[in-house]
Amino acid sequence: MHNHANVRTHLSNANARKKLSDMDNSEFRNPHVARNYDPLPVMLTRGQGAYLWDVEGRRYIDMMSAYSAASLGHAHPRILAKLAEQAQRLAVPSRAFYNDKLGPFLEELCKLTGLDVALPMNTGAEAVETAIKAARRWANRVKRIDSPEIIVAAGNFHGRTTTIISFSSESEYREGFGPFMPGFRAAPFGDLAAFDAAVTPNTAAILVEPIQGEAGVIVPPDGWLAGLRRLCDERGVLLLLDEVQSGLGRSGTWFAFQHENILPDGVLLGKALGGGVLPVSAFVAKRDVMDVFTPGSHGSTFGGNALAAAVGLEALHVIRDERLVERSQALGERMLQRLHAMRAPAIRDIRGRGLWAGVEIDPRYASARDVCEGLLAKGVLTTATHHTVVRLAPPLVISQEDLDLALGAVEETLAMFDAPRNVSDAAAGVDQRLEA
Ligand code: PMP
Repeated sequence: MHNHANVRTHLSNANARKKLSDMDNSEFRNPHVARNYDPLPVMLTRGQGAYLWDVEGRRYIDMMSAYSAASLGHAHPRILAKLAEQAQRLAVPSRAFYNDKLGPFLEELCKLTGLDVALPMNTGAEAVETAIKAARRWANRVKRIDSPEIIVAAGNFHGRTTTIISFSSESEYREGFGPFMPGFRAAPFGDLAAFDAAVTPNTAAILVEPIQGEAGVIVPPDGWLAGLRRLCDERGVLLLLDEVQSGLGRSGTWFAFQHENILPDGVLLGKALGGGVLPVSAFVAKRDVMDVFTPGSHGSTFGGNALAAAVGLEALHVIRDERLVERSQALGERMLQRLHAMRAPAIRDIRGRGLWAGVEIDPRYASARDVCEGLLAKGVLTTATHHTVVRLAPPLVISQEDLDLALGAVEETLAMFDAPRNVSDAAAGVDQRLEA
């Protein structure tokens, strides 16, 4: 039997404070797998809906949805049917030819966002790169700026490419990876006056997450996005929103920008767009912004392939037909209410919107990783972000009953960390970060 199975059955308040990350992980490790992640000690082999199973047949409730990539749940039957059907018909013909799936998919994305034109890519980071290229060329051509700048938010997470980490404020993402790409400046997230002050004649765009995910589910003050929209209009700057994580129902609306009734100049989508089975991303924008791309100026071998487009369109239809946005809103309210009612001393803060919450853990009591390991032992899977925040973002298809069960496990686990841990544990809170 695995060590962690023993931990699961014998976990007590006393030994909960012992670092569970001391659990023997070696049985899961393969020396041929690069160590750029430090997974929790569980080997998964199957998923269905909001459930995941390990190789020993134990079932877990998924409370993180693969960083929202599995928002539709695992192995959604409609997604699998579409995947199989389209794979047999036409999968990757390249963009050197038209394919009959791409147009309808991108048209639906434009209808849903209220924007005009969409450019398909694969990963979230590629959608971000596409938006950056669009903003720079737009600034070059429309504003005649030689050296355009993009203003981003401190604490941002937009992906892992060398350009994107160049404007990260996290040393962990940057350390040793220079030289860095110039042309970015940062202002504090949620601070309208600071963004206002950061705009110069060289500013091409403001690029932010409407809700910061990897930073720990940070919801900006009401009115901030609307304020950015006004600022961008006044100063002739593009507003680009990275909704790779916040979009497609996660925050209780189709897109987080709809909470403030604004329309950005461009929006970046990914993760859930692939229905939980493929990497599918897109940059969706107003026509004058997208028009800066001409044939040959940008592309991707896999972006917009027929299989991705068919699955992407089916994912959008599943979200609509199963009313997953409404579910996210209703179940999200339930989740936040329940979290706010919890009284564990280890809770420092609770933030969230829709079916997406971050529970900030007081490091004097536990690391977020400790809490995730405690949850694993109770059959609930999620991850930490930034050492101190436990993310809760189940598939939007989760049943109310399973959500309640998982939240019960969260409450019990948090209650176990009821006394300050010893100083060396707290100081050694150098758990590996688990951001996507
Ligand atoms: N933008 C945001 C807001 C994200 O949360 C992420 C991934 N966590 C990305 C971009 C990057 O997506 P990918 O890992 O697919 O490149």
